[in-house]
Amino acid sequence: MIAIYPGSFDPITLGHLDIIERGCGLFDQVIVAVLRNPGKTPLFTVEQRLHQIEVATKHLSNVRIDSFDGLTVDYARKIGASCLLRGLRVLSDFEKELQMCHTNKTLAANIETIFLATAVEYAFLSSSVVKEIARFGGSVDHLVPSHISLELSQCFSTISTPNSLPMKTSIVQ
Ligand code: ADP
Repeated sequence: MIAIYPGSFDPITLGHLDIIERGCGLFDQVIVAVLRNPGKTPLFTVEQRLHQIEVATKHLSNVRIDSFDGLTVDYARKIGASCLLRGLRVLSDFEKELQMCHTNKTLAANIETIFLATAVEYAFLSSSVVKEIARFGGSVDHLVPSHISLELSQCFSTISTPNSLPMKTSIVQ
C-alpha cells in the first residue's frame, strides 16, 4: 500500500521524520510530498526542501520524495496512493485535520486518511517554532536533522537585523 505524507516541510523537523519512519513500518511505500503552495511564502524553496528531505530520509529504503500542486487527492490518484498520512499533535491539529479528512472523503471516497499521534517529545514541535528559534540565534540541533540546523543558521546569519523579518510573537515576547 502506498501512502502520501503531504505537507509544507519548511523545513522538515524531527517530528516530521518520526512520522515518516513510523509510516515506513506500516506502508510499502511512503511518498513525502511537498505542496507547491502559491499562497504561502516559505523560508526554503521547494527544491531546497526536497533536497533537505532526501538527505534526512536516506536511511529509509521505502521513501520517495516528490512535490505537487493542486488537490492532494488528485495527486494521490495520479500516483496510485490509497492513503494520506498525517500527524496529530494538539487539539487544534485534530480540528483542522478532521475537516480536511472529511473534505477529502467527499472528493475521493476510496482514499483514506491515516493519523499518527506525535511522539510525546515532539508534541510542541513545528517548522514555525524551529524558524523562530533559529532566527534569533538559538540552537535547533535537538529539533531538526543536523544539515538543516546548519542551513538555518546560514540562512539567518545573512540577515543583519532580525526585526526586518516578519515574526510571530509567541516565543519572543
Ligand atoms: P501543513 O502545512 O500541511 O500542515 P506541515 O509541514 O506543517 O504542513 O505538516 C505536515 C504534517 O505533519 C501535518 O499532518 C502535521 O500535523 C504533521 N506534523 C508537523 N509537525 C509534527 C510533529 N512535531 N509531530 C507529528 N506530526 C507533525
